[in-house]
Amino acid sequence: MSALTSVLQSRNGLWIGWSGSTERREAPKVYEGIRLVAVEMGKEEYENFYLGFSNATLWPLYHDAIRAPTFHRVWWQTYVDVNRRFAEAAAEAAAPGATVWIHDYQLQLVPRMLRQLRPDVRIGFFLHIPFPPIELFMQLPWRREILAGLLGADLIGFQVRHAASNFSRMARRQSLATGTDSILEYEGRTVRVGAFPISVDCRQIVALANDRATRERAQSLRADLGEPEVVLLGVDRLDYTKGIQQRIKAVSELFEEGSLVAGRHVMVQVAVPSRETDAHYERERHDLEQVVSEVNGDYGLVGRPVVHYLHQNLPFAELVALYLAADVMIVTPFRDGMNLVAKEYVMCRGDLRGRLVLSEFAGAAGELGGAFMVNPHDLEGIKEAIRLAVDVAPKEERDRMSRMRRRTSRRDVYDWAESFLAALRQTSL
Ligand code: UDP
Repeated sequence: MSALTSVLQSRNGLWIGWSGSTERREAPKVYEGIRLVAVEMGKEEYENFYLGFSNATLWPLYHDAIRAPTFHRVWWQTYVDVNRRFAEAAAEAAAPGATVWIHDYQLQLVPRMLRQLRPDVRIGFFLHIPFPPIELFMQLPWRREILAGLLGADLIGFQVRHAASNFSRMARRQSLATGTDSILEYEGRTVRVGAFPISVDCRQIVALANDRATRERAQSLRADLGEPEVVLLGVDRLDYTKGIQQRIKAVSELFEEGSLVAGRHVMVQVAVPSRETDAHYERERHDLEQVVSEVNGDYGLVGRPVVHYLHQNLPFAELVALYLAADVMIVTPFRDGMNLVAKEYVMCRGDLRGRLVLSEFAGAAGELGGAFMVNPHDLEGIKEAIRLAVDVAPKEERDRMSRMRRRTSRRDVYDWAESFLAALRQTSL
């Protein structure tokens, strides 16, 4: 991520990560002036640690158990082993008194393991995805180990306050931690807990959105779509947490009842291929493609599908052109740590045009009060929000967008990284 790249560059930092391959091969040692340390993972470890425990146990559990999480002891054991390998790599690489920033749900045991190996370093942890409510987290057979792992950090950051307080309450209940939602005492140390909502690279997005080539591309996209009155847009990883099918169903019903009309209204849905070896994801893709083909079969015209579906990963410049071409952006995840697509859309719209339909269960909802807010489980509610967004008066459109832009541009992704590291510096060693 470019924000972390510049943080590391400015501090002569070092990046420890998986090489991205299960084959043993020489990994690069430097990237954009940053020293790299590659942690290796065999094929079986990749299956148990990454596809298994990370993506089939923790991911669904932390996203409201939208799909049933799977618990396997052998996955857990590999999760412990791989976390230890990361902790050892960090312990070996860190200078005396260094700051180590650990990222995300795949590495929740590393803070404690690293502290045991290197009590001199300052340890921060940031969880990019939601932290679940107590009732769900309690299902995890290894809940105590995960809590102890995280509590090894000096500072634990979450996307939103709600997640931070879920964690602190859980820690007080299932570990020996005591204290408040933001300061815990644990094993004679102080552990700070807080919300650090991640953001986007505002300047880069604004520059791209203002670029002539991007604007021309946006116009040609609208022409390719047949110069409709209203372009609706969805952009997501193809993930069951994103509520894509539900959204297409809502759009389909709007065509059925005549609120949307083929030729005048058109939707584009980008679904980026993701985790394709997982059965849940395969099913999701299959079901989504069924829904898309039904809506086009029922309401499309020759040469004018009502939903244009791209199962592709687009270059960022093309995405920005799509954001510019879209009148209504629909972001309806059932649960999402933050959702950067929503913030990117808002930052692109310096023209103060464009409406955002946003799930209340995306972390971004806390900052994007100018959106048409929906409960993503409520099909009628989604339909109503889309109707309102399609028909909004120009003044209300501008007011809502400028409100969202003011708030989003106040803190970009560099401020996010800096504020986390500043809070970490203030923790006592
Ligand atoms: N994205 C992209 N190409 C695409 C679609 C999405 O580069 O074709 C990027 C998008 O710009 C955003 C990220 O993928 O930065 C998705 O992040 P988000 O927080 O919305 O969801 P996540 O995939 O992390 O769950």
